[in-house]
Amino acid sequence: MSSVTEMFGSNVFNDCVMRERLPKGTYTAIQKTIKDGKLLDIEVATVVANAMKDWAIEKGASHYTHWFQPMTGVTAEKHESFISPTSNGKVIMEFSGKELVRGEPDASSFPSGGLRATFEARGYTAWDPTSYAFIKDKTLCIPTAFCSYGGEALDKKTPLLRSMQAINEQALRVLKLFGNEDVTSIKTTVGAEQEYFLIDRELYRKRRDLIYTGRTLFGARPPKGQELEDHYFGSIMPCVKEFMEDLDKELWKLGILAKTEHNEVAPAQYELAPIFSTSNIAADHNQLTMEIMQKVAKRHGLICLLHEKPFAGVNGSGKHNNWSISTNTGVNLFEPGETPYENAQFLLFLCAVIKAVDDYQEILRLSVATAGNDHRLGANEAPPAVISVFLGDELTEILNAIECGKDYDCRQKEQMKIGVDVLPYFPKDTTDRNRTSPFAFTGNKFEFRMPGSSLSISGPNFVLNTAVAEVLKQFADELENASDFTASLNKLIKRTISEHKRIIFNGNGYDDAWIEESRKRNLPNLKTAPDCLPYFTEEKSIKLFTSHKVLSEAEIKSRYDIVMENYCKIINIEALTMLDMAKKDIMPAVSAYSKELSETASAKKGFIPNIDCTYELETLKSISRTAAIMYIKTEALEKAVLEAKEISDVTELALYYKDKVIPAMSELRISADELETMTAKSYWPFPSYGDLLFAVK
Ligand code: ADP
Ligand code: MG
Repeated sequence: MSSVTEMFGSNVFNDCVMRERLPKGTYTAIQKTIKDGKLLDIEVATVVANAMKDWAIEKGASHYTHWFQPMTGVTAEKHESFISPTSNGKVIMEFSGKELVRGEPDASSFPSGGLRATFEARGYTAWDPTSYAFIKDKTLCIPTAFCSYGGEALDKKTPLLRSMQAINEQALRVLKLFGNEDVTSIKTTVGAEQEYFLIDRELYRKRRDLIYTGRTLFGARPPKGQELEDHYFGSIMPCVKEFMEDLDKELWKLGILAKTEHNEVAPAQYELAPIFSTSNIAADHNQLTMEIMQKVAKRHGLICLLHEKPFAGVNGSGKHNNWSISTNTGVNLFEPGETPYENAQFLLFLCAVIKAVDDYQEILRLSVATAGNDHRLGANEAPPAVISVFLGDELTEILNAIECGKDYDCRQKEQMKIGVDVLPYFPKDTTDRNRTSPFAFTGNKFEFRMPGSSLSISGPNFVLNTAVAEVLKQFADELENASDFTASLNKLIKRTISEHKRIIFNGNGYDDAWIEESRKRNLPNLKTAPDCLPYFTEEKSIKLFTSHKVLSEAEIKSRYDIVMENYCKIINIEALTMLDMAKKDIMPAVSAYSKELSETASAKKGFIPNIDCTYELETLKSISRTAAIMYIKTEALEKAVLEAKEISDVTELALYYKDKVIPAMSELRISADELETMTAKSYWPFPSYGDLLFAVK
């Protein structure tokens, strides 16, 4: 295939293909389903399924799969072939409407947090026709949601789809009040910028910590790290360039709009930014992007690390979630408008987000909480664990002026009213690029910077959508009953600003002074996953999600169990891997090197009796001292891991891992890393940080 335009979307059953291959009536019916969420009847599904199958077979596919996103965080597929036996002992290739719209994967081994035990044993997958089917590895993949037979969500996608419905409903109420009669639906849009590391595959194979946990559990700092910042936006290494070109091709074939790629701050770190799309599609595409990145990297002798913190002392990887709302008429609701009414509408939606972020800080925080992300947030390289909103000085001044009813020194120098009389001057995109805010307004969208690089973006997005839907609901309730719309609107905006301005912060989020200031503002600082996850099952959260039909109480509780258990499992695996490497690799290597030092010293002495053996003996002494400490720390970690087995309550267990196991791991690492600096390179059992970070050429 030659040109990019030809290649783009060539493996996607997209609108173009549908228009070409479906009878007119079927095409119209499926468009209706996609646009308005109308249920598709089985006859239509049968025609679509047949066309999909023919198209897929022409493209070399022989199997199909319902592609879904269980709570494991990675995608799942169960391949079925199209073949169907005929009476004459042959086969034909078949794919029915029923098979398209509904599947029954053997769901028993996916985490359900007790949902299937309480309800039905099996789960089913249901087609999400708004996300196009595609071909991957000679298999037709049908994007689906995954539920239990009782209808409980067992996946990441279902709550996202439900939250999109919730925010659609409430935003339409508000839009109606501003006279937007032509708007019949809104969609949340997302562009997820993906950070990742690339390291040499052969070196990776020599490190069990990377293999088992995705991050290094040991490793002394190399002489050169990221301090020169010479990697950031620097020229891309030839080998990486080839990887990126190959990656682009694979993503484009799947209709994924990979747009910019560049080096990041840390050595060996890179970023990929797509063009934004509707939230659920963006979520599907981000999952695919992560999968394809890993696959393509291997073809180039590389390994793509998606962990939030693969290397201590080196910047970790995040996933910036750019979020906005757009109407079916093509208007971005966070684009400051041209007319007073549009601006009032912009201000109201802006206020809705500010209030939503302030009201539901804990829940937003927990939507990005994972064991891996705990290494990033608050480590002065990513936003702090405290949530705040960055608006930029200009917009903040406008809000301040509105709050006090004062003049805003803008172009017109007029009294600031949010109504019809005066057009406040909204300079477009004045937002200075603050990079330290967890939640930044960036001109016509918000950038949520807390998600970690390996996270499915469904979580933060369903929380954000639902929180904003709730505030829009409150706004609509108030304004729909107002006798004087402009006056009530004015009052509402003013009140919202003064009640929620504590969440607005335009300064340096990495600064310790901000942590101090945030404490004064009463903003919670939930540093770790076990600190914030319990807020998920609190009354406020249950009320939010149940009232908008995004999650039921049972679903919330089951999800809580799943994420907490996952946290515990991850720390447990990390601790066991450390013990394994400490006992089987590091200590034997240190011992062998000690032997060499002592043998060398005695050999030298045998040769010239009074020879100076200071180097051998002093090194031997320091190594022996540190090795003895390391041995004690290994035992301590082993004991901490064993004691965890006594705890059955998942909340208590997570806290135990955080308070007892993680500190024991850090202690052990200190001694091991010290030993690395003293031991001859030829004895050290695995590649060093320097090898890993600077090997890719
Ligand atoms: P940055 O300065 O962070 O690099 P960009 O303007 O390049 O910002 O955009 C970053 C990301 O934001 C891109 O992935 C882009 O597609 C996405 N984005 C732009 N507009 C929107 C929007 N309206 N909704 C959601 N995401 C958007
Ligand atoms: Mg960004």
